[in-house]
Amino acid sequence: MANKLRLFALVFAAAILLTACGKRDETAASNDSIESAEEALLKLPTEDIGSASALVGDCLWINVFMDNEQCPWDAESKAAVKEMVTDAGNYITKQGKTYGAEVRFEYKWSDSEGSYPIPHYANGATFAVDTFKNSGYGGYDGYVNALLEGTEYGNYFLMFHFNCHGRSFSVPCDTAVGEDSDYYSEFCVAFYSGKEDGDYFACPAAYAHEVLHCFGAVDINEERLDSELNALAEEHFPDDIMRAVPENIENGSIGVLSASLIGWENSVPEGLKELLKN
Ligand SMILES: [Zn+2]
Repeated sequence: MANKLRLFALVFAAAILLTACGKRDETAASNDSIESAEEALLKLPTEDIGSASALVGDCLWINVFMDNEQCPWDAESKAAVKEMVTDAGNYITKQGKTYGAEVRFEYKWSDSEGSYPIPHYANGATFAVDTFKNSGYGGYDGYVNALLEGTEYGNYFLMFHFNCHGRSFSVPCDTAVGEDSDYYSEFCVAFYSGKEDGDYFACPAAYAHEVLHCFGAVDINEERLDSELNALAEEHFPDDIMRAVPENIENGSIGVLSASLIGWENSVPEGLKELLKN
């Protein structure tokens, strides 16, 4: 484990709760709750239905550099984020191939208009909705539609980037509690900071981890599992990036449980279902 930072619980947490989920309930969207994970399992695979579906096919990764007065963006930081996001996408594509899943990412990069408050994972579930509620876009749906520019994608999701230290999080769509909205996708908030700033720092695996949340993967880290389940996890997917976020993404993997939750496998192996029941 010398080369692996077991920062899972520390590095990135998935915030849950409702956000701009929509009417379409066929998504495999999930959140950290076990109920949701089980629901997601029942609905797999779900292709071609937009975000929160199976992570296959053409996928648009929409990135927005969010300006904040305390931590404005600079060219160097943006370039570093772009490189890590691309590394994360390439890694997911490569992992997908091992399951026979074709994933192709396209990246879109935008700068926010104006300055925005820095969200916190503990209460950030409505960040996207709140941010665009009174905007000229007429809400988060409108904002996302503007970014899509009329292009149709099998999957897309949005990642807000802040140039400061923080604990990144994902707010996966949960149709069970979703609001009535045409936009049923989710969002991630990713903080860009180096190791010197503290426990949560940006690395490709961290970006990949958040993306997988948006497609139904759940945290399976040591703190969340009892000893029996940890033994199972260690046996079947010790290097899963939903379990631990390695500083070098090549030291991680997307194990069979996560692969099932994001639609790369049709079922979770019998013995591993226990992992989703606690
Ligand atoms: Zn997580």
